Amino acid sequence: MTTSASTAEAFRVVPNASPASAEERATVLADLKFGVNFTDHMARISWTADDGWTDRRVEAYGPLPLDPAASVLHYAGEIFEGLKAYRWADGTIRTFRPEENAKRFQRSAHRMALPELPVEDFLAAIRAYVAVDGDWTPTAPDSSLYLRPFLIATDVFLGLRQPKKAEFLVIGSPSGPYFSGGVKPVSIWVEQDYHRAGPGGTGAAKCGGNYAASLLPQMEAYARGYDQVLYLDAKTDTVLEELGGMNVFVVLKDGTVVTPVLTGNLLEGVTRSSIIQLLSDDDLKVVERPITIDELRQGVASGDVAEVFACGTAAVVTPVGRMGAKDFEQQVGDGTPGAVTMKVRQTLTDIQYGHAEDTYGWME
Ligand code: PMP
Repeated sequence: MTTSASTAEAFRVVPNASPASAEERATVLADLKFGVNFTDHMARISWTADDGWTDRRVEAYGPLPLDPAASVLHYAGEIFEGLKAYRWADGTIRTFRPEENAKRFQRSAHRMALPELPVEDFLAAIRAYVAVDGDWTPTAPDSSLYLRPFLIATDVFLGLRQPKKAEFLVIGSPSGPYFSGGVKPVSIWVEQDYHRAGPGGTGAAKCGGNYAASLLPQMEAYARGYDQVLYLDAKTDTVLEELGGMNVFVVLKDGTVVTPVLTGNLLEGVTRSSIIQLLSDDDLKVVERPITIDELRQGVASGDVAEVFACGTAAVVTPVGRMGAKDFEQQVGDGTPGAVTMKVRQTLTDIQYGHAEDTYGWME
């Protein structure tokens, strides 16, 4: 895969000629949504096979002129990341383990035959973007500036080949708490008709196509009265993988916490890795191993499973209160958020918002 040496070159800033007024920004920040409003600028780096990564800049947020034959529009050459910038009480703006997102972005790029952006450029783009538009980072509790780095193949060619042109961008959206009015347990539908990923597929990559394919199962789950879809492995249809946009953890009655082992079919969540670390350091035994749906179902029925939770950047840690599939329907525990779930959620958000000492050096 073509990569250019990391340069961490300076980003030039081309200011937006008509940025939002102070009142317009205040209006957005007073009524925070998720992924609806965007800031005045975006960071950008262009790539060609001949010249590598060039033209690092922060420019006005706006539509991208794309040739109708651009390969992303036909063959979905696209990868993305999601991370948050948090405003601390001292006014500084911090991101959570951005290097992990940068490395995952490289792994996703490799799988999709897209150019691998040097980690230093990924981090420099975020820094440059936040330096210009950091004022859009909300101050309300549990709010953040959600950052969306992405890379698209822009070759003007209908043949299917490794792209020779690509654009990397970072956009940002001021976002409110995922749960307005406190943490609410979600219900999950255990999906037995559709799979998210198969062996050798793209499950471990954060590519847009995975999410496009998850929409139909998600809509069907909504129609059945469930919030989220839990996918099983495609080979045996028995082993838990992950939710459409979150990893999953199971807390046993004896205090052991289990989470599906990374098989290459599921996304290695930054929240997942962080939670494994936090729980282990809290003297809980954390085991990464295959978990079958029968084991989970029986454990929930017998009470051996005390809690189930999902985790990811957007919702942080989400208790699962109810599970269902074609042949069963059950409440998890008493259906309310469990103690291990809520404690790890608190520990993690305390680090992210600067309410506790960052002993891991996770905040940048
Ligand atoms: N699995 C999938 C499929 C996801 O889209 C996400 C969100 N990126 C996650 C898990 C959680 O990853 P992270 O903790 O890095 O947000």
